[in-house]
Amino acid sequence: MKLPNYVSDQWKEGSGAGEPLIDPVTGDELARISSQDIDLNAALEFARSQGGPALRQLTYAQRADLLAKIADVLTANRDEYFRISLLNSGATQADASFDVDGGIYTMKYYAKLGRTLAEGKMLKEGALVSLSKTNAFVAQHFLMPAKGAAVFINAFNFPAWGFCEKGAPALLSGVPVLAKPASPTAWLTHRMVEDIVKANILPQGALSIVCGAARDLLDHLREEDILSFTGSADTATRIRSHANVLRRSVRVNIEADSINSAILGPDAATGADVFELLVKEVVREMTLKAGQKCTAIRRVLVPRQHLKAVGDAISARLSSTKVGNPRNPEVKVGPVVNKAQQSSCLAGLKQLKDECSVLFGGDEHFQPIDADPQKSSFVQPTLLSCRKGLDAKFVHDVEVFGPAATLVAYDGLEDLIAIARRGLGSLVASVFSNDAGFLQQVLLGIGDLHGRVVVVDSTAGGQHTGHGNVVPSCLHGGPGRAGSGEELAGLRALLLYHRRFVVQGPPTCITDLSALCADTRLLYS
Ligand code: NAP
Repeated sequence: MKLPNYVSDQWKEGSGAGEPLIDPVTGDELARISSQDIDLNAALEFARSQGGPALRQLTYAQRADLLAKIADVLTANRDEYFRISLLNSGATQADASFDVDGGIYTMKYYAKLGRTLAEGKMLKEGALVSLSKTNAFVAQHFLMPAKGAAVFINAFNFPAWGFCEKGAPALLSGVPVLAKPASPTAWLTHRMVEDIVKANILPQGALSIVCGAARDLLDHLREEDILSFTGSADTATRIRSHANVLRRSVRVNIEADSINSAILGPDAATGADVFELLVKEVVREMTLKAGQKCTAIRRVLVPRQHLKAVGDAISARLSSTKVGNPRNPEVKVGPVVNKAQQSSCLAGLKQLKDECSVLFGGDEHFQPIDADPQKSSFVQPTLLSCRKGLDAKFVHDVEVFGPAATLVAYDGLEDLIAIARRGLGSLVASVFSNDAGFLQQVLLGIGDLHGRVVVVDSTAGGQHTGHGNVVPSCLHGGPGRAGSGEELAGLRALLLYHRRFVVQGPPTCITDLSALCADTRLLYS
């Protein structure tokens, strides 16, 4: 079976043999994809000329209704998405839910929020600015939906959520979408798009999908388009520096990789509730989706005196966690997505082992439950410990995109802040402590280099939303290595798909234009 691409309102198979999609447990081929000979320029032009205008004839509230219908279709087909997640990603039920249910929830969230923008077709930003003594000439800033296409180049680890969390704000803004999912797990995004297309919810050209290599896609982007990329820092650099993207100043949003930290405060010794909460969270982050989350905890920064206790507690939990074929109901950790990712994880672990001791796992030849190690792509959950702190190198630079984390010893607040910042910009850090002064100093020390900081003390306890859990009401993205992109944060996500412009003119003209606008105070609430 070769999955056809959906472009210019037609399903079209790419030519050639295509790339195989694989079951990472059995190694079996599931389907093939190819983008070869698909006219990507025409696909973009169709989206811009047909999909965009049709979407923008509608108001925000009407487009919010479309999102609600999409969410209903996705909900109706949820079981099939779980099946595909199991086959193509080796996902456990919990892994699939994180991706699929997270995606549907985000779509529903934007459907609800979009309705609050009501009948507007544009957004008004801020107050009227006076430019003359008599107020005969004034200025007003507006945000207008971009008249181009939104191109999503996504990572393999969130085929459902990645599509929904970008697609919902783009469509709500009135911008047509061309999705290019990562090849290894393209099937799930493909199936979702197929279901949406079959349900005939969106106007022609509002949604396209290309499965396989991006080929010459970036060559055809224009100044009115938006390129939203999620993936590794290396690919991000190539995308950002693409000649046409630079020449035409295409707006680019990058969500890249990240060496995220969880931090234990000096006040949190064994037995303290925040100690237990950190241990639980580290294990969850290492095991959910087999650690293949951009937000997963990679470094656990621990006061040197607590290093052994934390290592023992995490190792104890890992030792009772079953790893193997997710078709076995006892299994909690599935494989990584393919052999290439397995090799990349093992190579990364090898580097980390140069400067760390292994506290748990690390066996390249371990036996997963109900799976053949020769055919499957498992990585044993691995906990390492690094006593070198800031002097370590690989620990702060190498993202092992699998079930692995490293404890890093710190000596005092200044050292801790320097180590956290050594991630060179991260999506998220979480801090576990009951010392209000310590928490404040940490937040002041690391806030500018992190997109999100999660604080867990005894009062929040188990009610915190999770270190790695991205919620649509809050910012997702991070500076520096994390790509410097910004997604979600409620209606603020719409800013990516709008262009700011200011009208300077007589008040009557501005009043007329303002009548077409939704109230953007909602955007910043
Ligand atoms: P990747 O190898 O960088 O690929 C990401 C996407 O870029 C894929 O769709 C890939 O297509 C495409 N691509 C590769 N080379 C390209 C080129 N020259 N021009 C245009 N597109 C190109 O990343 P991945 O392995 O799929 O995902 C894992 C990484 O993503 C991890 O590092 C993780 O931290 C990061 N990630 C970040 C976030 C975030 O929100 N910050 C979320 C999830 C994942 P093909 O698959 O067809 O090659």
